[in-house]
Amino acid sequence: MSFVFDPQPQPSIAVAQSDKRLPVRRIFCVGRNYAAHAREMGKDPDRDPPFFFTKPADAVVDSGETVAYPPDTGNFHFEAELVVVIGLPGRDIPESDALSHVWGYAVGNDLTRRDLQLKAREQGRPWDCGKAFDRSAVIGPVHPVSKVGHPKTGSIRLEVNGQVKQDADLAELIWSVPEIISILSQSMQIQPGDLIMTGTPAGVGALAEGDICRIEIAGLGTIETPIGPRA
Ligand code: MN
Repeated sequence: MSFVFDPQPQPSIAVAQSDKRLPVRRIFCVGRNYAAHAREMGKDPDRDPPFFFTKPADAVVDSGETVAYPPDTGNFHFEAELVVVIGLPGRDIPESDALSHVWGYAVGNDLTRRDLQLKAREQGRPWDCGKAFDRSAVIGPVHPVSKVGHPKTGSIRLEVNGQVKQDADLAELIWSVPEIISILSQSMQIQPGDLIMTGTPAGVGALAEGDICRIEIAGLGTIETPIGPRA
């Protein structure tokens, strides 16, 4: 096969304690999955079915890389999240079997142009410009299930320039990882390399040029993102 121009390189994320990288297929994100964050976004935390939005696979950024302050926004936000990495395909997966489809877990930052997201929300338009822009998904090294198991509790914490902004526990997730995988797989076939960003706790806020954003999840290490000058 020949192409009319070179295909883009395969997007990938780091694997903890390995030289190998994990190829990324799609990035699913769960909206409003911690009650206190749903409230701070002006919504009732309830058990309405979870909803998903996506980011392009090539939005991934490794920990330690600088992310330039993005264009077209004056309200660029951080969101600390647990990331689930899918390793086995499946459809209509029962909750009881869902965790067997997980390859590992990582720390993520769902970078958001909040002004564009809220404007889209008000107008009933898609969230893509607020959520799915270039370099909007910082994902740390993936820790395989064989090393870390399936974290269900533990601290998730975000600091900007050493000041704590988000401080919660994975136990506060409204929809658990098995529930999320089961529900998503009823809508589409999940595939190896699909990532699921599971939602952010309360305390979201703005980043500025020169900030250092650090996120730690118990057992999964710390990721760090310096914010560079406007692109
Ligand atoms: Mn998010």
